[in-house]
Amino acid sequence: MFDLTLTFDNGPEPVVTDFVLDTLARHDIHATFFVLGHKLAMPERRRLTERAHAEGHWIGNHTWSHVTPLGMLDDPGETEAEINRTQAEIGALAHPRRYFRPFGGGKLSERLLNQTALDLLQREHFTCVLWNAVPRDWEDADGWVARAFEQAASQPWTLMVLHDLPTGAMKNLDRFLGEARDRGARFRQDFPPACMPLLDGKIVAPIDDYVTAAD
Ligand SMILES: [Zn+2]
Repeated sequence: MFDLTLTFDNGPEPVVTDFVLDTLARHDIHATFFVLGHKLAMPERRRLTERAHAEGHWIGNHTWSHVTPLGMLDDPGETEAEINRTQAEIGALAHPRRYFRPFGGGKLSERLLNQTALDLLQREHFTCVLWNAVPRDWEDADGWVARAFEQAASQPWTLMVLHDLPTGAMKNLDRFLGEARDRGARFRQDFPPACMPLLDGKIVAPIDDYVTAAD
């Protein structure tokens, strides 16, 4: 047996997000959607995140533009806007813990955050949600499933990053969920504490490895 928490990043996306929500509902699984502010700002896409929230999924902040990892942004104003604009756009759909997930090509590295971002996240009582499994579904629409099984079976509690993006990968989600259960997965919505170095704005685990050193 192993525990498995699923997260879907970089949406909301027409068709795909609805498809993921339908699939999760069929399996009675709740997940978290880390959304991009600039997508959520499109009225026709906001409905998708509202649906996810109404169906019991959690909504987290995954920056506004998702262009440059925050650890590589020099401009403090731009850094703060990436987080603040998105949180404002999420509005009442936000989880009370104010979940924020940085990005950096799937790698846990100092590119994830800069000092401005870390200061803001602490000041505004965010909870930083990292991950411990990235099967790289965006690169390999079919091959991710085997990697996902391997990663999930290799540790007691996996926090997996998937994407509700139109890559074709999500057509395998139904099969993945069914087989994962057959292999002993227990799905849960909360996150492993080791993946949350910042909890309600407080540093509770070493975070320096994820923050670009100041010049
Ligand atoms: Zn992302």
